[in-house]
Amino acid sequence: MNSTLLSTKAKVCSVPACISTLIATGKITTKVAEATSKDVDIAVDAAQKAFDTTWGLNVGGAGRAKMLGKLAQLMEEHQQELSALESLNNGKTFSWAMNADIPIAIETIRYYAGWADKIHGQVQETDEKKLTYSRHEPIGVVGQIIPWNFPLVMMTWKIGPALATGNCIVMKPSEFTPLTALRMCELIQEAGFPPGVFNLLTGYGSTVGAAIASHMKIEKIAFTGSTLVGRKVMEAAAKSNLKNVTLELGGKNANIICNDADLDQAVSWAVHGSYWNHGQACTAGSRIFVQSGIYDEFLAKFTEKSRALKVGDPFSPDSYQGPQVSKNQFDRIMGFIQSGKDQGATVVLGGDRNGTEGYFINPTIFTDTTPDMKIVQEEIFGPVGVVIKFEDEEDVVQQANDSVFGLAAAVFSQNITRALTIAHRLKAGTVWVNCVNQIHPNVPFGGFKQSGIGRELGEYALANYTAVKAVQVNLGYVM
Ligand code: NAD
Repeated sequence: MNSTLLSTKAKVCSVPACISTLIATGKITTKVAEATSKDVDIAVDAAQKAFDTTWGLNVGGAGRAKMLGKLAQLMEEHQQELSALESLNNGKTFSWAMNADIPIAIETIRYYAGWADKIHGQVQETDEKKLTYSRHEPIGVVGQIIPWNFPLVMMTWKIGPALATGNCIVMKPSEFTPLTALRMCELIQEAGFPPGVFNLLTGYGSTVGAAIASHMKIEKIAFTGSTLVGRKVMEAAAKSNLKNVTLELGGKNANIICNDADLDQAVSWAVHGSYWNHGQACTAGSRIFVQSGIYDEFLAKFTEKSRALKVGDPFSPDSYQGPQVSKNQFDRIMGFIQSGKDQGATVVLGGDRNGTEGYFINPTIFTDTTPDMKIVQEEIFGPVGVVIKFEDEEDVVQQANDSVFGLAAAVFSQNITRALTIAHRLKAGTVWVNCVNQIHPNVPFGGFKQSGIGRELGEYALANYTAVKAVQVNLGYVM
């Protein structure tokens, strides 16, 4: 129990092993407990006990709604604090955390509070002498593993539907970003959730994450992260107890800008699509396809606007882009930039680090790419975009769909028929028309192809956390 942090205790125990979290300059902010696979067993037992006694079928929907509503209210009361923690956690700017991440997280919890007392099955007509109905029951103990890019948002996407439907949770945040998740433990406790309903384990993926994915008493695993690790999670689930799996994975998203787009708007959205969260967004529109008639003008305006972005201290109000999350990510992104240069692409902007300390990278634009280049095919997860010319609809649909991923895409055109025709032909779980990166808790989100399995958000996510049981009652049908 040494290194476990259970929400119900809401304190970091003194532990032999710790994880250091770093700030923009690469210096240590704080240390948190490092859990082990033994702690996973302890957390699962606590969760199962809560499920059998104080949660699960023991609390009605109205009770769950009340606690989720209270949690949303507490998050709102602590919005500044959560924003500051998120900025320290991840390096994202305080203003983005305050104006985007934390409000989205609060809305998500409030949205699922609304669902908690609206979970119901159906009555099926079978025979006059029978009563047949289905129940949507909570699954039990569910495992949830989340990444570092939107730590609190990802947490709420997972806990919102799982708690609304009556499940108990064993969650692991990313080892890079444990801070907001730890603070949430205290708020969850304050909101009135019984002990053991939510359990957080700070630790590494290869130990704690792997133990959750292969645990014999965890009936469902929901994972958000890279496609590489998603594959491992699915394999571990299959090799252990064949637990139910949902995966939200990577993307290499196409942003398509047609000749008839509102050019200035398309440029502004493309900047947001490429550099929001320092390019560390699974939905980043990092493959920008521009039709030949406006290609030169778009590239000039896009380059100018990207050059003007201020990279710097995440707590400075005029910073648009903070540091990348870790040295690993910094090195990985710089490796992709080098590969683009080595493979013969042209660097139109950036292509280098910003400053000499910390993990800052200048907004980077490549042109003159070929479809086989790593920077065109692989998810870079940094402030790096490629701008590619296309001729017509057929050409761009073929190029946009030439990817193992299928998470999101965007189309810019003032001709709605053209925009929707292209949107319907794209193999992506979300297509934005004349905008990018719009997220609402009631709109389903997830990937085609290797970008994932299942959908989060909206009513769709409830199905991830319920098991359907059919009950057939004999009202006099004689054998
Ligand atoms: P990652 O796959 O490296 O790690 C994600 C989580 O998995 C972390 O908590 C990590 O500790 C854990 N993990 C690592 N190895 C594990 C193992 N063997 N078993 C179980 N868990 C393990 O991803 P990341 O670098 O944290 O996040 C970036 C990735 O997440 C990108 O690919 C991005 O596209 C993806 N992402 C997808 C979505 C989406 O909704 N589709 C949202 C956000 C991020």
